[in-house]
Amino acid sequence: MEFRLSPRQEEDRESFRAFVSEEVAPHADAYDQAECMPGAVVKEIAERGWLGAIIPEEHGGGEMDPITFGLLCEEVGRGSASLLSILTVHGMVCQAILKWGSSDQKARWLPKLATGEALGAFGLTEPGIGSDARNVETEARPSDASYLLTGRKKWISFGQMATLFMIMAQCEGKPTAFLVQRESPGFSTEPISGLLGFRSAMLAKVHMDECRIPAENLVGRPGFGFSHVAGAALDHGRYCIAWGSVGIGKACLEACLRYTSERKQFGTYLKEHQLIQQMIARMITDISAARLLCLHAGHLKEIGEPRVIMETSMAKYFASRAAFRAATDAVQIHGANGCGSEYPVQRYLRDAKIMEIIEGSNQIQEIIISKYGYH
Ligand SMILES: Cc1cc2nc3c(=O)[nH]c(=O)nc-3n(C[C@H](O)[C@H](O)[C@H](O)COP(=O)(O)OP(=O)(O)OC[C@H]3O[C@@H](n4cnc5c(N)ncnc54)[C@H](O)[C@@H]3O)c2cc1C
Repeated sequence: MEFRLSPRQEEDRESFRAFVSEEVAPHADAYDQAECMPGAVVKEIAERGWLGAIIPEEHGGGEMDPITFGLLCEEVGRGSASLLSILTVHGMVCQAILKWGSSDQKARWLPKLATGEALGAFGLTEPGIGSDARNVETEARPSDASYLLTGRKKWISFGQMATLFMIMAQCEGKPTAFLVQRESPGFSTEPISGLLGFRSAMLAKVHMDECRIPAENLVGRPGFGFSHVAGAALDHGRYCIAWGSVGIGKACLEACLRYTSERKQFGTYLKEHQLIQQMIARMITDISAARLLCLHAGHLKEIGEPRVIMETSMAKYFASRAAFRAATDAVQIHGANGCGSEYPVQRYLRDAKIMEIIEGSNQIQEIIISKYGYH
């Protein structure tokens, strides 16, 4: 199957690329070192309509088609994986509400999420529960016309900044999704620092102590939290991570093409050495294959084909592994310079490792994909 971008998609990609090259990539190492994403950057992407990209126009969003959105994720991922993660987690909240929210929830939240007036974060993981996500230990207890949530969440991207959290909790003994506003009584966050990668993704722990939220903030119904609501969110998350991983791979390749054309050893440019060419060839091929899987998933999303969920898992699995291979080779090619802070390839390697862990680790993707093989 051949994928050809439309002239409009090509044009959009050029504008994403120009913005990322000029406004994001030159500052990404500084954000990484400061472990902080400036509010002005988030505001800028909100003003560009990117936080509302996947939201339909009727709810105030940009209604971007899946492939254009993928191209956006690729470009943002090329500049900063931490910044990509806001498109990921905010989009996961949007997607879950779009798919499983009541009409009141859609009317109330989607227009605010579309403009960035509300910033979404996704709260599934806990200190004691990661991959086994349907067994979260946070509890939601009905009380008058409210629910009282008690529990802890950990590793919540943009948890330091978000205003609207989608929280998974057990309700009537079943996994259930809730929308929780930052200002809810009994809700607080605590920044996480010192991460390997995604250092400017503003991660936080979330504490809920009898956190009171209105009963109408339950999304779907009890028991739908993991299989339906989180399922829709994670599918979006994997799609973003797959494309963002292509972006990291591309950043590695660009850095290596530059470096090997400038640095000489044994009297000739690095690019003339065949063992270097081998790593470059693997990088080019991996990126190309990963992008094709992403385009395929995007195409299936566009036509509403149900097996898109599996194809998206495969794209995430392959692309994150490809990004990690590209990043480790990129550091190798840069030698000692690859280990220092003057070149970005060490950040690419740290961020690529994270891509293999989040939105369902690659072992979890292997379990999902292999089960699919037996169907
Ligand atoms: C930078 C970053 C950002 C994150 N952002 C968010 C966020 O916004 N929201 C959120 O909810 N979470 C977030 N997470 C958490 C992330 O989703 C989890 O780390 C991930 O789901 C894996 O869970 P875990 O770390 O608890 O590992 P565990 O589940 O404890 O797994 C440990 C290891 O065992 C493997 N493993 C687990 N089960 C099996 C099995 N059945 N078979 C084979 N191997 C298995 C895993 O693959 C992993 O290698 C983030 C994490 C990081 C590092």
